[in-house]
Amino acid sequence: MTKEERNALLYKPQNGLDRISAVEEAEMNDYCEQYKAFLDVSKTERECVVSAIRLAEAKGFKPYTPGMAVAPGDKLYYNNRGKSLIFGTMGTRPIEKGVKILAAHVDSPRLDLKPSPLFEEAELGYLRPHYYGGIKKYQWPTIPLALHGDVYKKDGSVVTITIGEDENDPIFCVTDLLPHLSSKQRTQTLAEAFKGESMNILIGSRQFKDEKASEKVKLNLMKIFNEKYGITERDFLGAELSVVPALKARDLGLDRSMIGAYGHDDRVCSYTEMTAEIANTNPEWTSVVIFADKEEVGSDGNTGMHSRFLEYFLADLAEPFGVPVRRVLSNSKCLSADVSAAFDPAFADAYEKQNSSFINYGVCVVKYTGAGGKSSTNDCNAKFTSKVCAILDNADVVWQFGELGKVDQGGGGTVAKYIAELDVDTIDIGVPVLCMHAPMEIISKVDLYETHRGFYEFLVAKMD
Ligand code: MN
Ligand code: MN
Repeated sequence: MTKEERNALLYKPQNGLDRISAVEEAEMNDYCEQYKAFLDVSKTERECVVSAIRLAEAKGFKPYTPGMAVAPGDKLYYNNRGKSLIFGTMGTRPIEKGVKILAAHVDSPRLDLKPSPLFEEAELGYLRPHYYGGIKKYQWPTIPLALHGDVYKKDGSVVTITIGEDENDPIFCVTDLLPHLSSKQRTQTLAEAFKGESMNILIGSRQFKDEKASEKVKLNLMKIFNEKYGITERDFLGAELSVVPALKARDLGLDRSMIGAYGHDDRVCSYTEMTAEIANTNPEWTSVVIFADKEEVGSDGNTGMHSRFLEYFLADLAEPFGVPVRRVLSNSKCLSADVSAAFDPAFADAYEKQNSSFINYGVCVVKYTGAGGKSSTNDCNAKFTSKVCAILDNADVVWQFGELGKVDQGGGGTVAKYIAELDVDTIDIGVPVLCMHAPMEIISKVDLYETHRGFYEFLVAKMD
C-alpha cells in the first residue's frame, strides 16, 4: 500500500502549527493580542456584555426592540439584564427556514461574595465568599485576587467596583497554612483540607482610630468603601460582587505558542463567535450569537440558557413575518460553543488518548458530553455532526474530535441540551483547554484562531 492510500484510509488529526502559513500565523498573532485585551477587561459576565456591546456598536450593531422593522443585513443586539446577550445579523433567507445559532457562556468559576460579607477576626478584615461554579478550592489561596461587581444603592443608582486590576491597585488574598504547621493538613483529603466556609478573603488590617468603637478593622474598611463608592454595609445585601484572579492574560511558553489567563472557559468561545459574527456581513442565514450567563451553575435563572429568553427573542423577530417561533426553531442549526478538556500528559490516566483533544490540533468537535453512560447529554445526531465536519474540512479549518475524559471518569455538560430541547440541531464545539476551571487556564493560539475561522465558516456555509 502506498503512503497516499494509507493516509486516505486512516484518520489522523494534524497539528495546526504544521498547517498554517507564515501569513496566517501573523494574522493569528494579531488576533491573539486582541483576545488578550478583551479578557483583561472582561472578567465577569457583566463585563463581557459591556465589552461585547462596545465592540459591536463600533461595527454598526443597534439595540433590538420587539416590533422594530428589520431588513436583511441589519445588525442587532439584545441585552438581557446586562448579564447575557444576543447579537445577530438579519439574513436574506426567510426566517421561517431557520437561523444559525452560536451559543457560548460568559460566566466563569470564581468566588462570589455572600450577601453580608464583611467581618473581622483577630484584627484582620475579611470578605466571606460563596464560591461559584466547579472550582478546586486548593487552587485559590495565596494568589492575587481582584474584586469586581455592581452594587445597587437604596436610591436605585448603581456603583461599579473594580479593585485589583490596575498595577497601582491593592490586591486581596485567601490565606493558607504554612508548611511548618501542616502535618495534619497533609494527611487530609482535599475535601477535608479546603472548605468552602474557610475561603475568606483577606482585605485589611488597619483599625479605625476610635477608643469607643468595637470591630475597628471592619469599621475602617467600611469607611473606605463608603468614601470611595458611597456605599454602606446594607448595600452589600443585594450586590453582585465577585472575587477573581488579578492576573492579566499572558503568552505562555518560551515559544509563545499558548495563552495563560483566567476565564478562557468560556470567553475563548464567546470571543471567537463574536468576531465571526462581526465578520458575517449580509449573510444568507440570519445569525443569532449568544453570550449566556449561569452555565457554570447549571444554566438556571433568567439569564441562563435554560430560560426562555432565546425563544422569546426569536418569537419577536419572527412575529412581523407571521411565522410561529416553533417553525423557526425546528429549522435552526446551532453550535454550542464551549471549551473541551485538552489531553494533559501529567494526568494521562484520566483520559482515553484516542478520543481526546490535543493542544494545537484545532477546534474540537464534541459529539456528546455528559457523565456515566452519556447521562444528561445532547449527543448530536450523525447527520448534523457530519455536516459540521464537512463545513470545517471544505474551508480547510484545523479541527479535531474529542471526548471529555475516560468513560466513568467524571463528566460535564454545556448549554447544548437546552438549545436542543427547543428542537434545534445542536452540536458541541470549542477550544481545548488545559487546567480547566483553574485560576489560570491554558489554550493554544492556533486553536483559538482556527475556532474563530470555524465559527465564521459555519455562519456563511450553504446548508439546507
Ligand atoms: Mn464551559
Ligand atoms: Mn466550565
